[in-house]
Amino acid sequence: MSLPEFRLLRPRAVHEAVAMLGKHAGNLRVLAGGTDLIPSMKQRLFDPEYVCDLRGITELRGIRQQSSGAVEIGALTTLSTIERSTYLRQHFPVLTKAAATVASPVLRNMGTLGGNICLDTRCLWYNQSLAWRKGCGFCIKKDGDLCHVAPGGSKCWAAFSADTPPALLCLNAEIEIASPAATRRLPLRDFYTGDGVNYRKLLPTELVTRVFLPAESADCRGVYRKLRIRGSIDYPLAGVAVLVKRSNGMVVDARIGLTAVNPAPVLVRGLPGLLGGKIIDEALAEAAGDIAARMAKPLTTSALTPEYRREMIRVFTKRALLAAAAN
Ligand SMILES: Cc1cc2nc3c(=O)[nH]c(=O)nc-3n(C[C@H](O)[C@H](O)[C@H](O)COP(=O)(O)OP(=O)(O)OC[C@H]3O[C@@H](n4cnc5c(N)ncnc54)[C@H](O)[C@@H]3O)c2cc1C
Ligand code: SF4
Repeated sequence: MSLPEFRLLRPRAVHEAVAMLGKHAGNLRVLAGGTDLIPSMKQRLFDPEYVCDLRGITELRGIRQQSSGAVEIGALTTLSTIERSTYLRQHFPVLTKAAATVASPVLRNMGTLGGNICLDTRCLWYNQSLAWRKGCGFCIKKDGDLCHVAPGGSKCWAAFSADTPPALLCLNAEIEIASPAATRRLPLRDFYTGDGVNYRKLLPTELVTRVFLPAESADCRGVYRKLRIRGSIDYPLAGVAVLVKRSNGMVVDARIGLTAVNPAPVLVRGLPGLLGGKIIDEALAEAAGDIAARMAKPLTTSALTPEYRREMIRVFTKRALLAAAAN
């Protein structure tokens, strides 16, 4: 498959990039590592007139520790850099563990944290060539008006399938968004909509520029578990991030983030009441697994059945909690 024709824009600074976004809004796609954008353009999922290549914006690369213990990560920082950061491994292990499972080493050398956060939702009926999709009459997510997964409905249920966002949700991360007019900051949990088509709250004139990890989320135990078909290189079909803060063995705080089983990454609700002040054992971990599985609403958007993916959320949550609680 070949790429469609486009004009390449190469800004050197954030203000140049957002000016380009402002000028060509709606007819431009942002390219970071390109590991998802380029294959998607070959499949004609996107056919923009302009591609804005962010890779020349050096100010958006790198991990900066702040004296408070908080950390700022540029949106263009590669997943390999995150995976290999000694500081992040020590203080924010749930993020480095999730980053280390994305795709393959070569793709992690190219793929960025910003691109992972902004990754398009995925579905068996969508991530296909133009000819394939045309043969099926297209669907709501692109060029059509019906959903093959939930016929009769008007919503797209394509699954949000990136690995680092559930870990970032557990860390209470915030993101910075730049536009031609201003810069705003919002909690990552408010970024996703839960709709498979318009899956993120980002205007065509806006760019994700930075990610902030708060100091109060540092030094917690973190585990990430992922279900995929090809262990060496594949998107998650179910993913669980677990963060646990303990004192004298008892849970002070626990957060669980899920990915690939809903149109948005989600934080599991109701955990403080279940786990707070307790020592995690088999029964508690199992109860948390049941709660997590209830929040997972997978549909037939991928090669594995929804039932299996939901069950693996239950199993992974239990295992991840026990691993996080092990001495
Ligand atoms: C074979 C294969 C396997 C993969 N497996 C996984 C996997 O296991 N887990 C996983 O999470 N991903 C996987 N991916 C997808 C991809 O490699 C990663 O998600 C990667 O992190 C995307 O980052 P990128 O910088 O390459 O994004 P790009 O491809 O450059 O961009 C992705 C999307 O985000 C937008 N975007 C990028 N940066 C910004 C920004 N700063 N602001 C606003 N919008 C932005 C782009 O316009 C595009 O829509 C896989 C891809 C392939 C080809
Ligand atoms: S969930 Fe439905 S509308 Fe969305 S991509 Fe899949 S088939 Fe298309």
